[in-house]
Amino acid sequence: MTDTLEAIKTYQQFIGGGFVDSASGETLDVINPADDQVIAKVPKSSAEDVDRAAEAADKAFPAWGHATPAERSGALLKLADALEARGEEIGRLESQNAGKPVGAAIDEVPVVVDNLRFFAGAARLLEGKAANEYMEGHTSMIRREPVGVVASIAPWNYPILMAGWKIGPALAAGNTVILKPSARTPLTALVLAELAADILPPGVLNVITGTGGDIGDALVGHPTVGMVSVTGDTDTGKHIAKVAAERVKRLHLELGGKAPVIVFDDADLDAVAEAIKLWGYWNAGQDCTAATRVIAGPKIYDRFVSELTDQVKSIKWGDPAEGDDIEMGSLIAQAQADKVEGMVERARGGAEIVTGGVRPKRAGAFYEPTIIAGPDQRSEIVQDEVFGPVVTVQRFSDEEQAIAWANDVRFGLAASVWTADAGKAMRVARAIQFGTVWINDHFMLVSEMPHGGFKESGYGKDQSMYAVEDYTVVKHVMMKI
Ligand code: NAD
Repeated sequence: MTDTLEAIKTYQQFIGGGFVDSASGETLDVINPADDQVIAKVPKSSAEDVDRAAEAADKAFPAWGHATPAERSGALLKLADALEARGEEIGRLESQNAGKPVGAAIDEVPVVVDNLRFFAGAARLLEGKAANEYMEGHTSMIRREPVGVVASIAPWNYPILMAGWKIGPALAAGNTVILKPSARTPLTALVLAELAADILPPGVLNVITGTGGDIGDALVGHPTVGMVSVTGDTDTGKHIAKVAAERVKRLHLELGGKAPVIVFDDADLDAVAEAIKLWGYWNAGQDCTAATRVIAGPKIYDRFVSELTDQVKSIKWGDPAEGDDIEMGSLIAQAQADKVEGMVERARGGAEIVTGGVRPKRAGAFYEPTIIAGPDQRSEIVQDEVFGPVVTVQRFSDEEQAIAWANDVRFGLAASVWTADAGKAMRVARAIQFGTVWINDHFMLVSEMPHGGFKESGYGKDQSMYAVEDYTVVKHVMMKI
């Protein structure tokens, strides 16, 4: 018992370039969801810690905001290199903290590295429109300026990846950042802070740890914070938007999703079934773009359900510590397994559970890969985000119904369309209201292209030059000549 306790590391948070405990001295337990064991402790922040971080970020802003783009770019490149050098260690830590397969967690780090390198380049490309004389005797120009202090609030499903998506564009544009990782998965953000400590000037990046309930309002409402960027649940986003509205703060909201996968009768069914095995159950389905809602053509529906079932039954799931061949790990917490179990149980009466539908009796937050066939379009399992390893399959009658069902949810983050007919693919891509539409693929992300939603999936874009622009304000300067 004593040995176990001694092995548990207590982390500190990162404020003003230094590592400190919480003002209260209190800590939070960090749990490995694959075996329910405590693996670390982190500071339990309070409003006082938010004040300290806001003060540090505010103090650092003038110099960082006025640094040349080349200087900011250089710092981001160094951060990317430092992250790359510790990629495997960071991936293993992430696996332990989030229940992800080890290989998948390690593979996420190069994606963050690429992202930071992209934003290092983007820092030097940010530009206003060319100057012109719109009124006689006056020259106008447009400047894009950083907002100031940005509060970046990240979710638990891709902790290091989301930390990268948040800090890259914000720092590139010249803002200083207070990053708040999810209290469930704070560890890799604290390692990122360790790397940043040797690279970024004090206060440019601060990482504080605490629950949304304890410090969310203090952070979002803090008078020094000029912009709030959150990736999380739609209800969390709505709450944050209300608090931010008090001071008319800028917002960047990356919220929930319920991606439709429209499979026409002429699609390559083997390719679709393989893709859904991967992207419907990747990260145990805890993905805002997960291929979770299949809308399949009338002629291929039966064959497709059968092919997908074969694929899904072959998924090797378990505790990532059991071996490198584990394809699907645990959910993030027992509370998430409760949520998934509840939604599947409520779906049972109105649909067929083709495979899965079982919460295994073992340690860890597990749920078996599940397929639900034939649910009603208005049912909870079709309308709401499960955020677990559950895929539904519905049979549509014609293109019009496929489009109507795809759009008939409150979310609009990502979708895919599968067909051999290029004209149909483009027609449907235009008709559906989602921020990303993949054709004959799903889940592919690149640093150069924007990611972000329509409708209740939020507004603002991650990745790409659009993200950098989101973290700036436009200023018009007019000179009498
Ligand atoms: P969550 O909403 O529970 O938490 C997200 C973050 O918000 C956490 O850091 C949390 O501590 C913080 N938070 C919670 N309440 C807060 C409050 N009142 N004030 C300020 N901060 C608060 O989300 P989650 O469960 O960590 O992540 C899963 C959700 O994230 C899913 O809905 C998923 O779709 C969404 N997500 C969206 C994207 C995207 O790009 N759109 C990407 C990943 C995840």
